[in-house]
Amino acid sequence: MSINAHTKLVSLLGYPVEHSLSPLIHNTAFEAQGLNCAYVAFSVAPEAIEQAVAGLVALGFLGSNVTVPHKQAVLPLMDELSPQARAVGAVNTIVCRRTQEEVTLFGDNTDVAGFLEPLQPVQGKLEGAEVVVLGAGGAARAVVYALLSTFRPKRLTIAARTRTRAEGLAHDLSGYDENQALHVMSLDEARSAVRNSTLLVNATPVGMHPHSDGTPWPDAGDFSREQIVYDLIYKPEATRLLQDASARGAQTIGGLDMLILQAAASYIQWTNQPMPLDVVRKALQQAGIGRQA
Ligand code: NAP
Repeated sequence: MSINAHTKLVSLLGYPVEHSLSPLIHNTAFEAQGLNCAYVAFSVAPEAIEQAVAGLVALGFLGSNVTVPHKQAVLPLMDELSPQARAVGAVNTIVCRRTQEEVTLFGDNTDVAGFLEPLQPVQGKLEGAEVVVLGAGGAARAVVYALLSTFRPKRLTIAARTRTRAEGLAHDLSGYDENQALHVMSLDEARSAVRNSTLLVNATPVGMHPHSDGTPWPDAGDFSREQIVYDLIYKPEATRLLQDASARGAQTIGGLDMLILQAAASYIQWTNQPMPLDVVRKALQQAGIGRQA
């Protein structure tokens, strides 16, 4: 990639950002498509986020990703929000829309689309189904909104370590709960909900590298053939949760596709180009993320 006076920039604003795979994903895609663009990660302290967003406009950036802890803080800095960003209450993608007269900032949340796309092949099973989401943090928020607005589940249980956090999530998203499906419980109360669920989603970091012997649901006997178990963790690709579920005949989905597809949903808004997914997947494999080809 050669950087010159025409190079257009995209950033990641987070704190910290050193662990992020987004620079690898997006720069691989820019290079594969011969786009004169570069993606740079910036560690921005909370008190500097407003200045950083103003800098995107001043410096002609195409846009930015936003990650922890700024996803909520940038909301009021946007001129327009997608329905997903407004519902989830978090922006992970900023698009700088330029006309000759002005620049407007569009805030989106592509975690919603990234989460839903791997569920497309099983969507028939999920309409009106019973679902359990483990965890009540930022990712769970996008997942619960995605499930409510797409599948209108009969029952959607949020099971979390900190019950009050789950209650807050359920309260915030109650406006999208047409079937009065939302229920909140602590993890140790969730056994029958897990057993009866068609889809179980892990939105906690339990089982993530380097603690990959951990699992958010140690009772593997609660999984069955009829279930789909979806772990948002992408490293390792086959978490202990997914291994346990698969051993009991459940269908499993790992977090790597969501990682790539949420990035692709941002990329197309900055470049008007679909992300070259195979090239990106290969670059991630070379970096030790996902199966070797
Ligand atoms: P977060 O905002 O910090 O929320 C984490 C949630 O997990 C909270 O509810 C937290 O409970 C719970 N939790 C943490 N440790 C736990 C433990 N030992 N036992 C039980 N519950 C525990 O994190 P997040 O941003 O939502 O991310 C959650 C996971 O999703 C991470 O592994 C992240 O890598 C993954 N993720 C993947 C993608 C993707 O593209 N594949 C996208 C986003 C996130 P408390 O409230 O009690 O702390």
